[in-house]
Amino acid sequence: MIVVMGPGHTRPQLDAVIAKIEEAGLRGQISEGVERIVVGVVGDSHTKELLRERIEAMPGVENVVRILQPYKLVSREFHGGGDSTVWVRDVAIGGGRVVVIAGPCSVESREQALQTAHAVKAAGAQLLRGGAFKPRTSPYSFQGLEEEALRILVEAREATGLPIVTEAMDARQLEMVVKYADMVQIGARNMQNYTLLRDAGRAGHPVMLKRGPSATIEEWLLAAEYIMAEGNPNVVLCERGIRTFENYTRFTLDLNAVPVLKRLTHLPVLVDPCHGTGKWELVTPMARASVAAGADGLLVEVHPEPDRALSDGPQQLTPENFAVMMQELDAVALAVGRRA
Ligand code: PEP
Ligand code: MN
Repeated sequence: MIVVMGPGHTRPQLDAVIAKIEEAGLRGQISEGVERIVVGVVGDSHTKELLRERIEAMPGVENVVRILQPYKLVSREFHGGGDSTVWVRDVAIGGGRVVVIAGPCSVESREQALQTAHAVKAAGAQLLRGGAFKPRTSPYSFQGLEEEALRILVEAREATGLPIVTEAMDARQLEMVVKYADMVQIGARNMQNYTLLRDAGRAGHPVMLKRGPSATIEEWLLAAEYIMAEGNPNVVLCERGIRTFENYTRFTLDLNAVPVLKRLTHLPVLVDPCHGTGKWELVTPMARASVAAGADGLLVEVHPEPDRALSDGPQQLTPENFAVMMQELDAVALAVGRRA
């Protein structure tokens, strides 16, 4: 249920609404949309129903709307119908510009990370990615440089000014990642790790939540709801391919998800065409398609020498190919009324 406050409401009226919600043992979360302030009410449905008419009669309240979907705070209605913007330091994701997060799959060395950071910055990327803790299918594969990688990423941020994004797979890693990085990535394999989602919600840091390879859009939105329900509104979704019968590509990049999410949620939507395809040759065409479909940005893996990469070599772009991709994106963004 959401309470839509009228255009001329006062702060004490809003406080009175929150107090009424809390008195009933429910939780109220304020969301400031472009045109309206709304209060999301979460908790027991029966109690909400009993409270509905009483809140509707309170001064300053325009109306009270039931949300039929199982997710509430992430639903578009909760944000007054508009898009939300997530700030990662000085970079706005979802603010109308196409934002590109780029960098190596894994931080492998200081040289590799710094070289890539400078190259992606020169080509126009706004954020730097790099894995420190790697979720590998085999326990014998390279697992990441851990805290050393985080220190290298910080050095790369200092050298380029690019805010950094990196994955945490458990609570201990999350604590460490929050100290160094500007945005926490929750990877596909952990999309339904509900304790980690709650921890990320409580940490308050911006979160990029990747779609689980077998998750439906509704399950994904409910995972985002876990983070928001802990009071953290800074959530960005990232489509990264789902598992289908098709095995020519590593996964099947579900571009349907982009316009579907745009209808259902106010959260910004990114696309990762690298994991989605598993083949570097397909990355640029699918990146173009993602922007054309309405994505707010992209997550792209770039490596100075992809054939020597310690993880995901076949899907990483060289800095040269990344620069070409960025130029091509400009043209698509312009064609669909966006700015790259
Ligand atoms: C990654 O971004 O490097 C990664 C491991 O992605 P995913 O969780 O989507 O597989
Ligand atoms: Mn990767």
